[in-house]
Amino acid sequence: MPLSSSGPLSSSGPAGSSGRAGRSAGRTGLTEQLKRGLEAPICLTWELTYGCNLACIHCLSSSGRRDPRELSTAEARAVIDELAEMQVFYVNIGGGEPTIRSDFYPLIAYAVSRGVGVKFSTNGSTLTPARAGELAGMDYVDVQISLDGADAATNDAVRGRGSYEAARAAMDNLAAAGFGPFKISVVVTRENVDQLDALWEMALSYRAQLRLTRLRPSGRGADTWSLLHPTAAQQVDLYTWLVAHPDVLTGDSFFHLSALGEPLPGLNLCGAGRVVCLIDPVGDVYACPFVLHDEFKAGSVRDPGGFAAVWRSSALFTSLREPASAGACASCGSYDACQGGCMAAKFFTGLPLDGPDPECVHGHGEALLAGVPAGGAPSPGPGHSVPVSLSARRR
Ligand code: SF4
Ligand code: SF4
Repeated sequence: MPLSSSGPLSSSGPAGSSGRAGRSAGRTGLTEQLKRGLEAPICLTWELTYGCNLACIHCLSSSGRRDPRELSTAEARAVIDELAEMQVFYVNIGGGEPTIRSDFYPLIAYAVSRGVGVKFSTNGSTLTPARAGELAGMDYVDVQISLDGADAATNDAVRGRGSYEAARAAMDNLAAAGFGPFKISVVVTRENVDQLDALWEMALSYRAQLRLTRLRPSGRGADTWSLLHPTAAQQVDLYTWLVAHPDVLTGDSFFHLSALGEPLPGLNLCGAGRVVCLIDPVGDVYACPFVLHDEFKAGSVRDPGGFAAVWRSSALFTSLREPASAGACASCGSYDACQGGCMAAKFFTGLPLDGPDPECVHGHGEALLAGVPAGGAPSPGPGHSVPVSLSARRR
């Protein structure tokens, strides 16, 4: 049974405010509070494994092979204990494909038993009718099926041959088991942005919720971003579509598009290290899931003091909670809405962190990108990608 999607980061916006003026004032106060950080993250992503049976060309963690240093079952349970003590309301579990860990289901059951809800992302390939039935009987567990196109040709070009069929079978199984409103999670690309209506209708047909996320140039996405990220004209269409579909979940993905007009629902700031962070499969803690790079590594859950010490007092997270300079965006009239965009998108495209987002709706990012020399962007490294010959066999 899914978790509720209401709350401060939901697509429906901060709870309790009414009317545009009230929403705006409430939003500003909340934004300032969130910028200073919280006792515990609101949006904690935990990648349980680098292992994956697919090789998506935009994978933010360059997953493929398991890492021998991945947290053991006992260590993972200890992390859950810590999250429970910190009163973390829920954790987003991903990977890699998290369900390939043999202890995956016992671990999510343990999290729920400790009062930590679980929302997990999966490519659906292991979600059999029996598994779907078990999940339907669990409280505080939600499922996100990843799908990057409304048809097999569009999806499989990104996620690999057979992945569309596997994802649809998983959705069928969840629906047949009466799971409730699971999520269909789509990374918006140049190739699927014209399919948003079809994806929305697909979600409706399952009584599921559509969740859209932004393509960031992280992991293997660094190599594919320039070809796959939506064009400037498509960004405008996407913004218009999102305004017309407030029921679609977006998290913090598209706040840079708020510079086009009324603010989009969701978190309108970069929450990295403030309300967002990532625990990777080996226990390292990063500012957000899209910045797997030493520069944004705050510590490890294996360090003395564990995750709580990293979250509350690491030098990196402390600095990210300081007031940030608007830099080259300071003179932009849209800064309050856009906040200069996404730190990860800037970092991995080689742009200064205190300047415009590479997809700045006023075109400033595009102009700056033209000046980044070849090889001038930081490399995300090879990660855990399976060698090309093997991954080609999977497609
Ligand atoms: S760096 Fe980008 S993806 Fe990460 S929290 Fe900030 S805005 Fe979100
Ligand atoms: S100049 Fe900066 S603040 Fe203005 S729209 Fe572009 S990225 Fe956003």
